[in-house]
Amino acid sequence: MTTPTQTDPYAAFREELRQFAAEQCPEDLKRFVRSNQKITRNEYRIWQEKLFARGWAAPNWPVAHGGTGWDLQQRYLFEEITAQADCPPQYHHGLGHIGPVILHFGTEAQKARFLPRILDGSEWWCQGYSEPGAGSDLASLKTSARRDGDHYVLNGQKIWTSHAQEADMMYTLVRTSNEGRKQAGISLLLVPMNTPGIEVRPIPTIDHWHHVNEVFLNDVRVPCENLVGAEGEGWRCAKFLLDRERLSPATVPRLARLAEQVEELLTARRDANAASASPSFHVLLERLYLAQAGVKGAREMLLSAIQEEMQGTLAASKSSALKLYCSELSQQIIGIAFDIAGPAHAARLVAATGVDAQQDVDLQRELVHTYLFYRSRTIAGGTSEVQKNVIARDLFGA
Ligand SMILES: Cc1cc2nc3c(=O)[nH]c(=O)nc-3n(C[C@H](O)[C@H](O)[C@H](O)COP(=O)(O)OP(=O)(O)OC[C@H]3O[C@@H](n4cnc5c(N)ncnc54)[C@H](O)[C@@H]3O)c2cc1C
Repeated sequence: MTTPTQTDPYAAFREELRQFAAEQCPEDLKRFVRSNQKITRNEYRIWQEKLFARGWAAPNWPVAHGGTGWDLQQRYLFEEITAQADCPPQYHHGLGHIGPVILHFGTEAQKARFLPRILDGSEWWCQGYSEPGAGSDLASLKTSARRDGDHYVLNGQKIWTSHAQEADMMYTLVRTSNEGRKQAGISLLLVPMNTPGIEVRPIPTIDHWHHVNEVFLNDVRVPCENLVGAEGEGWRCAKFLLDRERLSPATVPRLARLAEQVEELLTARRDANAASASPSFHVLLERLYLAQAGVKGAREMLLSAIQEEMQGTLAASKSSALKLYCSELSQQIIGIAFDIAGPAHAARLVAATGVDAQQDVDLQRELVHTYLFYRSRTIAGGTSEVQKNVIARDLFGA
C-alpha cells in the first residue's frame, strides 16, 4: 500500500491490531478456525464479546452508535490482520446487513431495541429473502403480510435461510400489496424467531454441515412497530443493503490465508513421501502458484475499489467483478486442497450419515467439507451469472 519512502499512516494502527489479535483471541478458538471447521454461533459469539469489550464490535458502524468509525482502509487492515492470526470472521447478518439498514431507515425505538444486542452479540439474525421461485428474481417473492389491527399476519415460505436454526430474529421481505410494480408492494419486517407459526426445517447439503434451512410461516403475527421504513419501502431497504455490502473487505484476506494453508499442505506432502518429482506434485504446485497470483490480483483490485469507494467513484461492476472473481478463486484454491487430501477423506465423508462430533478434528477432512461447501460460493449472495449481468449492464448499458 505504501512505497519504502512513504511513511505508513496506519503503522501504529496495524501494530495495535496485531497485538490485540495475538493476545485476545483464545488459542483454542484460533485452532478451531485454523482447522477449517464450520463456525457456529458459539465461536462467533466468543470473538464478538472480545471485540465488544475492546470497543471494536462494529468496524462498519459510526461511533455514535457504538461502531469504530474506521474508514474502509482501516476495516481492510482489521480483516487482513485478524485473518492472518486465525481469528474468526465476524457474523455478518446483524453487523453487516440489518444493522446498517436499521441505522438508516429505522425508528429511534428500533435502534434502541435492536442495535445494542447486535453489538454485544446477544441477539443473532438471519436473512429471510429467498423463496422457492424468488432467488435471482427476488422481487417475485410471494410471502404475504396482511394488516390486522396493530399486527401483520405472515403466510408463506422462505428458503436457503442460513443460520435460521440458531437465530433469534429474522429480517424478511414480505408482500404487503399486489398493486403496481412488483417491487412497490414489498416491505421489510423484523420477526422474532420464537413467534408461534414459524417452523424451521434443515436442508441437508452435500457438505454435511447444517447451514441452510426452509422457514415456513403460518399465520405469524408480527407487531407493526417491527416494520422498517414505510410500508412498500422494503425494496429500497434491500437495495440499500446490497449497495453497501457488495464491497466486503473480508473475503480476500480469508482467501489469502486459505492459499497459505494449501501451500503448507502441499509442502507437508512433499516432505512426507518424496513425491516431489512426480508429475502430479508439479501440476498441483503450478495450480497453486496461479491461484496465489490470483489472490494478489484480487487484493490489488479490492484495494483500488476501497480507494474508489472512499472517493465516491466506485462502479457497481467493479464490486460485482470482485464477487465473481473471488467466488471462482475460492473454488480453485479449495479444489487444490481437495486434490491433495481429498479422495480418502471424501470417501469417509460420503460413508458418514452426518457430522460426527466425536471424530477427531482433522484438517484434511475439514478441507473436504469446505471444498463441498464452497460449491455454493458462486450461488449465494447473487449467482455468477447475475454478477455478469451487472457487469455487462455497466459496460454496455441496457
Ligand atoms: C449456501 C447458501 C446460502 C444462502 N443463504 C441465504 C440466506 O441466508 N438468505 C436468503 O434469503 N437467501 C440465501 N441464499 C439464496 C441465494 O441468494 C439464492 O440461491 C440465489 O440468489 C440464487 O437464487 P435461486 O437459488 O432461486 O436460483 P435461480 O435464481 O432460480 O437461478 C437458477 C440459475 O439460473 C441463473 N439465472 C437466474 N436469473 C438469471 C438471469 N437473469 N440471467 C442469467 N442467468 C440467470 C442463475 O445464475 C442460476 O444458475 C443462499 C444460497 C446458498 C446456496
